[in-house]
Amino acid sequence: MRILVTGGAGFIGGHLAESFLADGHDVTVLDSLEPFYAEGIKRHTLDIHRDAAGERDARYRFVEGDVRDPETVRSLVADADVVFHQAAQAGVRASVDHPRKVTDINVDGTVNLLEASKEADVRRVVLASSSSVYGKPESLPYAEDHPTEPVSPYGVTKLAQEHLARVYAELHGLPTVCLRYFTVYGPRMRPNMAISNFVSRCLNGEPPVIYGDGRQTRDFTYVADVVDANRTLLNSGAADGEVLNVGSSDNVSIRELAETVRDRLAPELDITYESAQEADAEHTHASVEKAGALIGYEPSRTILEGVEEFIEWYRANREWYEPLVRSS
Ligand code: NAD
Repeated sequence: MRILVTGGAGFIGGHLAESFLADGHDVTVLDSLEPFYAEGIKRHTLDIHRDAAGERDARYRFVEGDVRDPETVRSLVADADVVFHQAAQAGVRASVDHPRKVTDINVDGTVNLLEASKEADVRRVVLASSSSVYGKPESLPYAEDHPTEPVSPYGVTKLAQEHLARVYAELHGLPTVCLRYFTVYGPRMRPNMAISNFVSRCLNGEPPVIYGDGRQTRDFTYVADVVDANRTLLNSGAADGEVLNVGSSDNVSIRELAETVRDRLAPELDITYESAQEADAEHTHASVEKAGALIGYEPSRTILEGVEEFIEWYRANREWYEPLVRSS
């Protein structure tokens, strides 16, 4: 199949592109290489598809371009059977500082993609949504029918994206699926997230820093599980028109996470606490029953198992990854 991955130089999109390529598909990546964090991490992701002589796999194409440019999007979607839309300005805090940019990319970019997909008659558009659409949960864990009341501009853009996908499905018969990812981590993860930060600081003898009292809880999802959920949708229409939670169905407090990493890597360090950051959700915890029933989704690891795996990956890749984490 011919697959378009927007944001495919990024963390999750990079893993998707790698997996589709390994399955024998033709993959086109559209990415603007936004300087949200060290570009070297994205360059590394793009280089995975090169052989020893520096040549890219013939079934892999990278296009540096912007989802806000309708012509670029139209020309790439025209050659695609299925589209996986990962391009976005991610990050809750960035959206508080730059709400207009986040809205432009996440909402206008999505409209470009849906318009082009409608015209090209693609088989399916799978969109990366977020647990941020829920805002303050009334009870835990929560399913997809829990009220959505985002507490950040980022969450609002992700909810707008979901509604646009639904409307294109209803008005134009375009098959769309939205996957609500819950804090994703794993190899090449974004450096500005708690897990990579804690590991990096502890390995360098610096205390891990928690914003707030650490009692906030998160459902952390291993990136391989996110890839599996997306891969299922390549050939299955079972979730067309639906929104699905993609989480680990487990959650830990940030304090427990920091203590686990600290105890494993630098037990002598004390944890440091700083004031809470605005617009962060207090708790996230996914019910994944719907994804289980519709696409057979099942999280493969507990959070603590996944963190252990990430630490091993970090150590093996420390030479190139750590300077980029620390400069982001
Ligand atoms: P990322 O920042 O690593 O990847 C996003 C990619 O999109 C980047 O490579 C960036 O350069 C690209 N991009 C940004 N603006 C663009 C534009 N205008 N045109 C083309 N490309 C552009 O983030 P990620 O963690 O891989 O997130 C992927 C998707 O998953 C995003 O849609 C994000 O909102 C969503 N998501 C991520 C998480 C998480 O925990 N990582 C959680 C929930 C949802």
